[in-house]
Amino acid sequence: MIFDQNFKRLEVIKESVKLEDLNINNKSFVGYWMSSNQRVNYNYSLNESLKLAKKLKVKHKIFFIYDAKQYNSLPRHRNFMLNGLKEVNNQLTSLGHQLYFYTYSESLMKSILKNCISLVVDLTYTNRAKKYQKNVLKNLNLNIYSVDNLYLPVKRVSDKQEYSAATLRKKYYKELDNKLHIHKFEISSLLKEVNSLKTENCCTDLINKEINFLKIDKFIDKKIINISGPLSAEKVIENFIDLNFNNYEEISSNPEYIESSTISRFLHYGQIAPTQIISKLNKNISIEHPFLEQLLIRRELAYNFTFYNDNYNNHKSLPNWALDTLDTHLKDKREYIYELSDFEFAQTHDKYWNAAQIQLLTTGYIHGYMRMYWGKKILEWTPGYKDGIEIALYLNNKYQLDGRNPNSYVGILWCFGLHDRAWRERSIYGKIRYMNDNGLRRKFDIERYVNFFNQRDLF
Ligand SMILES: Cc1cc2nc3c(=O)[nH]c(=O)nc-3n(C[C@H](O)[C@H](O)[C@H](O)COP(=O)(O)OP(=O)(O)OC[C@H]3O[C@@H](n4cnc5c(N)ncnc54)[C@H](O)[C@@H]3O)c2cc1C
Repeated sequence: MIFDQNFKRLEVIKESVKLEDLNINNKSFVGYWMSSNQRVNYNYSLNESLKLAKKLKVKHKIFFIYDAKQYNSLPRHRNFMLNGLKEVNNQLTSLGHQLYFYTYSESLMKSILKNCISLVVDLTYTNRAKKYQKNVLKNLNLNIYSVDNLYLPVKRVSDKQEYSAATLRKKYYKELDNKLHIHKFEISSLLKEVNSLKTENCCTDLINKEINFLKIDKFIDKKIINISGPLSAEKVIENFIDLNFNNYEEISSNPEYIESSTISRFLHYGQIAPTQIISKLNKNISIEHPFLEQLLIRRELAYNFTFYNDNYNNHKSLPNWALDTLDTHLKDKREYIYELSDFEFAQTHDKYWNAAQIQLLTTGYIHGYMRMYWGKKILEWTPGYKDGIEIALYLNNKYQLDGRNPNSYVGILWCFGLHDRAWRERSIYGKIRYMNDNGLRRKFDIERYVNFFNQRDLF
């Protein structure tokens, strides 16, 4: 099939009045509610709403709704996000537009969307986000469209939950004709062709006010959360591609490197898009390159999973073979059992696990290989797999800067058998893939990783 970037990106949520029948006056505008795609360029949703405003010859308004309750998280997350939004506003201002920043209230949507004739929103991929969006949009009498910003839209690749990376990969490659497609996608010229609605809303001051309310959680290295926003994201990935792309397989699977690209936090807030990362690569790179396997296949498999499975955040979505084997081994004797607080403050007997947890507390990140070890040991050191999943999700989503993402749920459930196959049976794990500290010592100079973090003074 010929690759078409736009195919199945846009979905009509509601179109009560046909575009040609819209009642347009000089106050009418098209709105874009920016939520999970916090950037200007490579933003398909913004592109669609600008195109609509241009077609209807009306003004355009870009807004963000900040709901502190919705971001029920540590200040590290909100700081990272709010700093990025300031930069989005600066970029928009330089192009004659602005980001309207609102704090959520029940009556907000009606008042800010007065005279709005059509609204574009970002597609959501989890039940929780879908419900939230639906609730905010209820009772609005206007046309609403949602736009998918994955490299390949979730519904385009598959209309159902895929069993594994292998089944998704087959469909994905077919859509791409087995080739990497580079798509340059700057929005600046379109922004210049459409007029922005102009009213009082001093985005930067409002964001600064919210930032000032936040106390930074005590463990995090403050420099990390200030490196945020679309420009920083571009710098981080360009640097990585220049220096480390050719050595990606080694870097991403060896914790001695401490970190891989670290682009996941920027991807999570939509400060950069996969299409934008791809645009920086050489078009001759094989679609099977290990970096693309992670960024496209593994990441978009996670979006496929949360999109089609409402139990994405609990054990009920594990495959039957995994549930059966975990149940069979539920009563197996555990040499170590830890409480949440032992895990949280890196107080286990295992210096490798503790180092990973300290990396998480102090940087909001764990090296990808150590994430697997971290999750597997939580399975082993909790009374049962349901407790294990709960604890791992709690810690992951509380501290990882890329937490609360489809990848978070899938990464953790993978440790409990999701998207994997049965292995040799053993105690506690049953047929779930096993990892141990001997493997770490055998494969790596793991002391280097331990020394990097275990000397940090936490308390
Ligand atoms: C227990 C556990 C928890 C995880 N929690 C999260 C999470 O909260 N948020 C999150 O984004 N990822 C999570 N992952 C997946 C993966 O470990 C991270 O995406 C990756 O380590 C992020 O670091 P990076 O950007 O430096 O990755 P790089 O190695 O530089 O990879 C580049 C990009 O490819 C994608 N990617 C890499 N590895 C994976 C993977 N295994 N699955 C899906 N996509 C991948 C990510 O978007 C990543 O940013 C988790 C994995 C496990 C095993």
